[in-house]
Amino acid sequence: MAASGLDAKLSSVLGGRTATVLEKAFGLRTVADLLSHYPRRYARRGELTVLSQLPIDENVTIVAEVREVRERSMKARKGSIVEVKISDGLGYLTLTFFNQRWRADQLKPGMRGIFAGKVTDYRGSLQLAHPDYTLFGDDEDGPERPDRSAEEWAKKPIPIYPATASMASWQIQKSIEIALDGLGAVDDPVPDAVRRERRVIGFAAALDGIHRPERDADWRKAQDALRFQEAFVLQAALLQQRAQNRSAPAIPRVPAPGGYLERFEKHLPFTLTADQELVGDEIATDLARTAPMNRLVQGEVGSGKTLVALRAMLAVADSGGQAALLAPTEVLAAQHLRSIARVLGPDLSAQLMPVLITGQLPLAQRKRALLRAASGQARIVVGTHALLSDTVGFYDLGLVVIDEQHRFGVDQREALRQKGTAPHLLVLTATPIPRTVAMTVFGDLDISTIRELPAGRQGIESFVVPLVEHPSWVNRVWVRMSEEIAKGRQAFVVCPAIEPGATEPGASESGDGDAVPEASSGPPAPPANVLELTAELRRHPSLASARIEPLHGRMSSDEKDAVMRAFAAGDIDVIVATTVIEVGVDVPNASTMVVMDADRFGVSQLHQLRGRVGRGNVPGLCLLVTRSEDGSLARERVDAVAATLDGFELAQVDLELRREGDVLGSSQAGGRSQLRLLRVIRDGDVIEEARGLASEVLDADPALTEHPALAEAIARRLDESTRTFLAKA
Ligand code: ADP
Ligand code: MG
Repeated sequence: MAASGLDAKLSSVLGGRTATVLEKAFGLRTVADLLSHYPRRYARRGELTVLSQLPIDENVTIVAEVREVRERSMKARKGSIVEVKISDGLGYLTLTFFNQRWRADQLKPGMRGIFAGKVTDYRGSLQLAHPDYTLFGDDEDGPERPDRSAEEWAKKPIPIYPATASMASWQIQKSIEIALDGLGAVDDPVPDAVRRERRVIGFAAALDGIHRPERDADWRKAQDALRFQEAFVLQAALLQQRAQNRSAPAIPRVPAPGGYLERFEKHLPFTLTADQELVGDEIATDLARTAPMNRLVQGEVGSGKTLVALRAMLAVADSGGQAALLAPTEVLAAQHLRSIARVLGPDLSAQLMPVLITGQLPLAQRKRALLRAASGQARIVVGTHALLSDTVGFYDLGLVVIDEQHRFGVDQREALRQKGTAPHLLVLTATPIPRTVAMTVFGDLDISTIRELPAGRQGIESFVVPLVEHPSWVNRVWVRMSEEIAKGRQAFVVCPAIEPGATEPGASESGDGDAVPEASSGPPAPPANVLELTAELRRHPSLASARIEPLHGRMSSDEKDAVMRAFAAGDIDVIVATTVIEVGVDVPNASTMVVMDADRFGVSQLHQLRGRVGRGNVPGLCLLVTRSEDGSLARERVDAVAATLDGFELAQVDLELRREGDVLGSSQAGGRSQLRLLRVIRDGDVIEEARGLASEVLDADPALTEHPALAEAIARRLDESTRTFLAKA
């Protein structure tokens, strides 16, 4: 057979049947895909798997020894059963085969092998359902091979692959062997010089070492090399993207003397914080360039990011251009428009004509807004994802601002950018991101950070209200809230659901499936849904005179808007809401945030929610009500949020408590979540080093003409992420 390359289809290398199974089970299509299906771990023939630690109801692959084989006739109907006990030397697991007498001839006590199947607990004894196995000595790799001692054979690592019921680990291993044997010369995406500097083995050797190691050192070296390669290709891709973003000629946007920006700043009722000044300068420098700005501004909730963005919009307006602000929800978009109009004051508003474009806008209003955007009359256009629609056009879009980035994917960012000629881009996020994560997720952006909060903030006190230990404390929550209202302040109560059993889409980002089980024993828990809790609070004796209103995603945007307006005007005391209020809602008089079933929310989400209070000069109070058990992971998250107000510290905790996939988030399309050996948390130093080396290579050879293998690896990545993206869409 002719040697095949990395891009060869698996069907041509393995045959259609196997290729189909591999694609169905793991999405593998090419030789490159298959060879990057790395072993999950390595077993040894000489080391049996500890059976007592096997997870029930999961597919496992284990090394064990056959101890006992019994064959008997079935009682109720015709046929036979072969029962095989396998052991790790301590415990036992039973394999059962119906009407397969020949198993008894194949499986003999004393034999060792790899067994796969789903672990079940049948009347107190462990079983392997749908068992499948391969016995040691079955292959030509047996202990009798003359060049190897029995000891070496026992120690040789056996790769154990992520497997499914349709494809056992050793079947995957066989396919990989075939692919490796047929593989022609592979070019290394990592240039020789870089590999020497980093002291990693070559690509071909690494593929061999990870899939068929002779000893542990082999796969360790291979993992090291492939992990570095992954970081290197990823950073090269991001840096190239970054260079591309900057290559289109942009119009410099410089504030005019005596222009909008200057007039705005003259009337600003407060002084900017030092960080706001600093970040403002960075942005002004970017805007004055002929290459488009690509900047992320991260800063605590309430640190004044929106204001920084508004100053950038005014600089663009001064140069005759328009700015678009993309917000994640209707409520937020409407609020942005209101607060922009407010801080601009009547004169500037009349001249800049900020408009709102959302999906739920009445037709006439929408038409008018579209016209103002297209004609260039509106210098500031605020909207939801409706802004991305083809019907929205601009006269001269000079700046795209994306608020709360984690709600939008890279592709959406790009879609909006297409509406101008190389507009400048500013992304705002209140979720602080550790440096190496930022390099991975936002590697094509420059990063500015606002750490300082405006002076005069009174701080927020946070408490966990643990209902498992203290069921009666929920009453104290409502009494405490009523005391705040009596002082003339306002409160939010956030629930994970709108009504019993109906969770708001996107309400829980904790994503680890350990949500609270339906109320167990003990006193009845308070309802944790908007509709029931609103009713209950309206009946509560200490809240008799409070004005309480619900707010959730099933209300029309007019209704939501009316509630938010009334709340901002002080005509509502308590809003009982889903996470529609999560981001950006700004009512300085709100002092109290109560979160029901707080453990259902992620760490950063809780931090965001808490940021809705303590924004003015009244101190904030945050009460995190939970039914999770002390010591559980769910409770740990809630405790962590109560323990600190530092968003950067929480981001770190969040990373440690979450799984990797959740960190990068599937919405960060661009496929950056499909990391294999690389872990953004653990491998920060690898990522930094790879970025440095990749940037040296790209500086010397921006088009990668000297490094075709790297260019191909980048293309392969992009292709794969497009596929993942399309599969999700
Ligand atoms: P973010 O978008 O970072 O959450 P905002 O820009 O919405 O923060 O600002 C939060 C509140 O603080 C707003 O009411 C804003 O007007 C106010 N604010 C912004 N900068 C300052 C400042 N330097 N001094 C006082 N108040 C400020
Ligand atoms: Mg904001």
